[in-house]
Amino acid sequence: MDYVIITRDDDKSKRLAERFHALVKPHGFRVNAEQPELVLTIGGDGTLLQAFHQYTDRLDSTGFLGIHTGHLGFYADWHPEQMEHLVHLMLTEDLEEKVVSYPLVSIELETSSGSKKWLALNECTLKGIDHTMVAEIKLNDELFVQFRGDGICISSPSGSTAYNKSLGGAIIHPSFEGIQIAEIASINNRVFRSLGSSILLPEHHHCEIFPRAQQNLLFTVDQLSSTHHEIYKLRCAVAEEKIRFVRYLPFTFWNRVREAFIE
Ligand code: NAD
Repeated sequence: MDYVIITRDDDKSKRLAERFHALVKPHGFRVNAEQPELVLTIGGDGTLLQAFHQYTDRLDSTGFLGIHTGHLGFYADWHPEQMEHLVHLMLTEDLEEKVVSYPLVSIELETSSGSKKWLALNECTLKGIDHTMVAEIKLNDELFVQFRGDGICISSPSGSTAYNKSLGGAIIHPSFEGIQIAEIASINNRVFRSLGSSILLPEHHHCEIFPRAQQNLLFTVDQLSSTHHEIYKLRCAVAEEKIRFVRYLPFTFWNRVREAFIE
């Protein structure tokens, strides 16, 4: 198998990576950073998000799997002590039969310097930096709301347990093909009004945000961020691409939610 390891920059994660290389080398596994069949991350969810953005051009032929070296992650869900067992499963099971695919957010940002596209595994956000963000939000080309507040978060189903959850958004099972739009501290009074709850768009819908001209805004895609003074439009929809996770062990999303947030 051709694979690559992306590690968090700490000694424990780097030592585990060396251990993995030593375990699989006798079995003919090869490090191939250009065209890996498997991207193994060692660190936290942030490490997996980083790896995802590094390999977004190979999503259809690459599987992702994460080992956590801190607390249990949502994406990085293998324990370091399970590494030998993981290698055994890699040697005996067919990777392609263990793949599950999760939806992503497709993003297009139009600014005074041009248009750029991204995919988000968790979410993208648009936030005011020094003032309230004022923006028109359209759903399927029709005006939905004139928004005023800190910002807007648009998340994937697997990202619904991240920033979206802190905003009071619903947790969505990753088999649902949709995106969720959550308000970040909207202003609601007798003059300004927004919905106040998050909404879920199905696969064939799209959302566009048109910020008022000349606002300093922070734009984020997962762990990446940039600031802009003139954003014309942010467009989001369910992406055609998906991320492929390799699930060698039985996995239920709702168990992961319970383990992470309840007990
Ligand atoms: P990070 O890598 O330190 O991650 C922050 C926390 O979010 C970690 O505890 C991580 O385990 C958790 N996390 C990441 N993805 C998750 C998911 N899908 N479900 C549940 N928990 C998840 O932080 P970073 O590198 O700056 O940004 C990465 C992510 O942090 C962003 O994609 C965003 O979702 C999240 N974030 C959350 C908040 C918030 O909850 N208030 C604010 C900003 C960013």
